[in-house]
Amino acid sequence: VARTVLAVDVGGTKIAAGVVDESGQVLAAVDRPTPTDRAENTFGVVHAVIEEVLGDPPAPVEAVGIASAGPVDVVAGRVSPINIPSWQDFPLRDRVCAELPDLPVTLAGDGLCMALGEHWIGAGRGSASMLGMVVSTGVGGGLVLDGRPYGGRTGNAGHIGHIVVEHEDGWPCTCGGRGCVETVASGPNLVRWARRQGWQAPDHADAAHLAAAARTGDEIPLAAFERGGRAVGLAVVATAVVCDLDLVVVGGGVAQAGDLLFDPLRASLAAHTGLSFVHSLRVEPAALPRRAGLVGAAALALRSISG
Ligand SMILES: [Zn+2]
Repeated sequence: VARTVLAVDVGGTKIAAGVVDESGQVLAAVDRPTPTDRAENTFGVVHAVIEEVLGDPPAPVEAVGIASAGPVDVVAGRVSPINIPSWQDFPLRDRVCAELPDLPVTLAGDGLCMALGEHWIGAGRGSASMLGMVVSTGVGGGLVLDGRPYGGRTGNAGHIGHIVVEHEDGWPCTCGGRGCVETVASGPNLVRWARRQGWQAPDHADAAHLAAAARTGDEIPLAAFERGGRAVGLAVVATAVVCDLDLVVVGGGVAQAGDLLFDPLRASLAAHTGLSFVHSLRVEPAALPRRAGLVGAAALALRSISG
């Protein structure tokens, strides 16, 4: 009988739980919108998705992996996600332990879990050292170095969205800084920049609308993706030279724009990868666009029980 684990993925827009087997197959999954008004309402949804996905009688899972929006503190088991303001230093690991007292529980950032999921069964298979990144409402990421997840001192290594790419006149960032790649390349900021250049679009327009307009040849949306792709490229080069990477896997809603993002990204790499060891760096679209966080959280859980 295949071993199974419980994976939980807590994001700013949805909270998901899944039962995943040791081949990475998601046997069952449920998700619900994330309430961000009160800490206990948010945790109530974590409790509910776990109970629902395990079923009755509960599925015989052997460990639990949690992917959480960051920042996280994996030493203390606490999380303070920027986009879940009701959770400040929330003791997520202990609270999940209390729900499932007999199981080992491992916590990591969602960027790290995405990278680990892609490395395990997605576009990162076989990579020695890779960066996984998500370009979406925000920009996040995680590192798998020498085949192992690398969270750093507190679990936050790989926060590529907050590499500074505009050192003069950069926009303020959700992190409290300025000019981060997220201020240029996230979906909402691509749209904001395009509007400031005079792009006419309905109020609800998002990165998908921007991509559709770019495909019709509309110049401002094309320039927005050009600018966003170049910014992502600069951050990727910085990470690749520091960590000696062979692969970058890019997912998330903005990456769904395909060549609109990947062409300027690759052009930026070609222009800035001067050092010989970076020439072989490859950039690939994510292969698990929807479930990478859950799959990566499951990989963490399996690692915790495989000795
Ligand atoms: Zn930032």
